[in-house]
Amino acid sequence: MTTPLRPAPACWAEIDTCALEDNYGTLRGLAPEGAECVAVVKADAYGHSLELCAPAAVRAGAKWLAVTSVPEAVLARRVAPEVRILAIGGVLPGYADAVVEHGLTPSVWTLRHVEELESAARAAGLGSLAVHLEIDTGMSRQGASLDELPELLGRFTANSPLRIEAVMTHFYASDEPDGVRSAAQLEKLAEALRMVAAARPEHLKYLSAGASAAVLGQDGRLVAKLAGEFGLRAMVRVGLALYGVAPRFMPPLEREAVVLKPVLSWKSRVAGVREIPAGAEVGYNGTFTATEPMRVALLPMGYADGFDRRLGNRFALLVRGQRAPIAGRVSMDHVVLDVTEIPGVAVGDEVVILGSQGGETISAYELADAAGTIPWVVFTGIAARVERVSV
Ligand SMILES: *Cc1c(COP(=O)(O)O)cnc(C)c1O
Repeated sequence: MTTPLRPAPACWAEIDTCALEDNYGTLRGLAPEGAECVAVVKADAYGHSLELCAPAAVRAGAKWLAVTSVPEAVLARRVAPEVRILAIGGVLPGYADAVVEHGLTPSVWTLRHVEELESAARAAGLGSLAVHLEIDTGMSRQGASLDELPELLGRFTANSPLRIEAVMTHFYASDEPDGVRSAAQLEKLAEALRMVAAARPEHLKYLSAGASAAVLGQDGRLVAKLAGEFGLRAMVRVGLALYGVAPRFMPPLEREAVVLKPVLSWKSRVAGVREIPAGAEVGYNGTFTATEPMRVALLPMGYADGFDRRLGNRFALLVRGQRAPIAGRVSMDHVVLDVTEIPGVAVGDEVVILGSQGGETISAYELADAAGTIPWVVFTGIAARVERVSV
């Protein structure tokens, strides 16, 4: 249904914002009742374009967007002026003023975070600044430890402009169905909540925990239960699933089919077709040799577009609705496909790297598995020069 630009780019990504809106609705339906469903749009909306995806999430009803850094949050504020914007990566030195200026909501877990935000709020004459207090419940990546919590809580005095609006943490094993790691995290989280509650934060409203895997698995419900015990509302933060890919559980979950719609299709087109004789070598170092007279198609894209070099000789892309194996190494700006078995391939033919064509589909997990990585990496690795086109 789409003709991206004229003339067509060499390599582009089609973004189906309606699919994203549908996914948001699906995930809100799956999330615990009454939970606030934050749309995670960090890393340029997982490579899907913040500019296209943040407004789509808002159209679908998202009241909160989450990104990692303050600079990302400033960009999100530009395209989504009317919703709350969470910077879940804390506040690097020097960024507190931007938090205040752009009305952002930072996560905090160190005394430095608190001090810099307090000074920035006071300097701007801001009487109240909501923050989300992050607790390290086991991932050891960020968040205050239970040992650090009393001193930190002591800083939220009545005359501080900072208000703890949420207690947050991040599960690091929601995709493990035995739930052992999450159970240990929930126990620490409960302990943290008891300490926070003892400090009687007047404005505490949310318990924020759980990414896509928590919403699709069981952790989301456990968060909601714990939130209820403390009179709080659960907040979940969905990323990957919003873009139409359900995190894989190992072993797989036994669940009713959840229909998520892939938002991104990654495409290129045939730039040349040539016949090569038996014995001809293809690509750097001749890692592919024609076993018979063959026909090969040149694609004007390569690893500089984010297409993994490890896929040389071990993956196939879709052309004319069929799988055409990659012949030889992936170059910086070029890939060669073996189209000997696919009749009629011609210059201009659309090639699907990720997505569907005819009856065939290449999923993000399929591409990720072949490259030995995960869908999050595939999406965020699609280079900036690959134009994102709304369809
Ligand atoms: C990235 C991230 C999420 C979203 O994770 P998905 O698995 O992509 O849903 C949620 N919370 C935090 C803190 C994150 O860093």
